[in-house]
Amino acid sequence: MTHNHTTGSAASRAPLIDIGINLAHDSYDADRSAVIERARAAGVVQMMVTGSSAASSRVALSLAMQHPGTLFATAGVHPHHATDLTAGVLADLGELAGASQVVAVGECGLDYYRNYSPHAAQRDAFHRQLELAARCRKPVFLHQRDAHEDFIAILREHWPGLVGGVAHCFTGGAAELECYLELGLAIGITGWICDERRGAHLLELVRRIPAGRLLLETDGPYLLPRDLHPKPSSRRNEPVYLPHIAAVVARARGETPEALAQSSTEATRRLFRLPDIESRN
Ligand SMILES: [Zn+2]
Repeated sequence: MTHNHTTGSAASRAPLIDIGINLAHDSYDADRSAVIERARAAGVVQMMVTGSSAASSRVALSLAMQHPGTLFATAGVHPHHATDLTAGVLADLGELAGASQVVAVGECGLDYYRNYSPHAAQRDAFHRQLELAARCRKPVFLHQRDAHEDFIAILREHWPGLVGGVAHCFTGGAAELECYLELGLAIGITGWICDERRGAHLLELVRRIPAGRLLLETDGPYLLPRDLHPKPSSRRNEPVYLPHIAAVVARARGETPEALAQSSTEATRRLFRLPDIESRN
């Protein structure tokens, strides 16, 4: 199942973990199990299914329960849907976050680029979810776009009570990266880095992320790597392409794909307390 020249045989590859796959998305309805199987055959041994609303968080948990040890879930409300975070929804999230298969609270954060929810509602939803993460002792899965100042101020306020987190789909600049690293966040890198029009700056920035703080994700079905050849006719991204992203990141960092896979997989398991499935049998 080789889709491009950068991926070798599954056997020779160190295991990878996709920390951000929106597997509850309806674009996977017709072939969700095949998507999971393709990923595993390509060495993507575990995946964290992103919850971005009450509904998708529930689906994410049920997927994780159907694939124990392989799929895990996050539970949260994306800033786009911040106005949906009623007291009832927050209570539902609290219940979901108590499940052992839910390994992070989020995705949550601020998005002042799309502005689908008013800023005040976004900030309020962010505060409530950081409080939830602190209460249930789970790390946070964070989204931020064009809102760095407010985002970091709110995060700093809650940070002492939190058990870590990841800046998912990092696409920002050097100053933002330094700020996140200084605070203690892990950094999630997607196929954005494969986009020569808007992701080229990341080729240099990923060199500044210490091994053990760099995590990998596809963010599928979004962000299909632009340099995939051939591209799937569906234009849908899926975790089978994570080795491709990892190869681009490893090359940019001047390290082997095996070294990157090992450090990112270990770091993911440490942060989200995922089981090491290789040593289990
Ligand atoms: Zn996001």
